[in-house]
Amino acid sequence: MNYQDDIPLAKRIKSIKTITTKTFLRIALLSLGLGVTLTLLANQSFLRQTKYSNNSNISSEKSQNKSLLGHLPYPEAPNNELVLFSPGIYVHKDIYENFKEMQFRAAQKGIALKLLSGYRSIDLQRQIFYENKSIRNQTAVERSRDSAPPGYSEHSTGYAIDVGDGDYPNTHFEVEFEQTPAFKWMKRFASKYHFVLSFPPNNKQGVTYEPWHWRFEGTVNALRKFEAANKITKFK
Ligand SMILES: [Zn+2]
Repeated sequence: MNYQDDIPLAKRIKSIKTITTKTFLRIALLSLGLGVTLTLLANQSFLRQTKYSNNSNISSEKSQNKSLLGHLPYPEAPNNELVLFSPGIYVHKDIYENFKEMQFRAAQKGIALKLLSGYRSIDLQRQIFYENKSIRNQTAVERSRDSAPPGYSEHSTGYAIDVGDGDYPNTHFEVEFEQTPAFKWMKRFASKYHFVLSFPPNNKQGVTYEPWHWRFEGTVNALRKFEAANKITKFK
């Protein structure tokens, strides 16, 4: 039998009330103390968490910077940042005016800069990488010297373009493009329009020389995308 059952109900309720009243202040004081302590602890752990999450951001950035077969990972440009340049070719909106201006200036010297490709979705890059690989009977490692694996192409950002000389179409996507007036003109003047050659000969990234492939570094957003690449090629 329970001991409390021996006490009449009215007394039991009274005694509970008395205990409640007596201990109320004590509990309140304790709670206050506990509250302050908890708040302090919570703040500390929040600070620690913030610090930790900052660290984990850095480490995830570091892991994002990890290259795959010499190529660096690149995010896909959101649709609302892309504009149609010519049928089937989208570029990042930051590029549009700069390329048009560059094209116009070159045309004044009788040079035909032709935009061959711009933005590529990761899906399209997947097709290019795996389908070309199977057509050419290459392994992924062999293929990666000429083409980026999906998720690792500068083209996904919308800031990379492939340029050809409209007067020499047989040099499109060929190293011979470097002998065309278009390439020679770009080598001298493209930087004025914030375009740089992504994969010059013997680049430290180990990607095959691509005289036709240029990237835009004329905005902070663009620069951020290519920071890891610039660290490898320019600051080492
Ligand atoms: Zn390209």
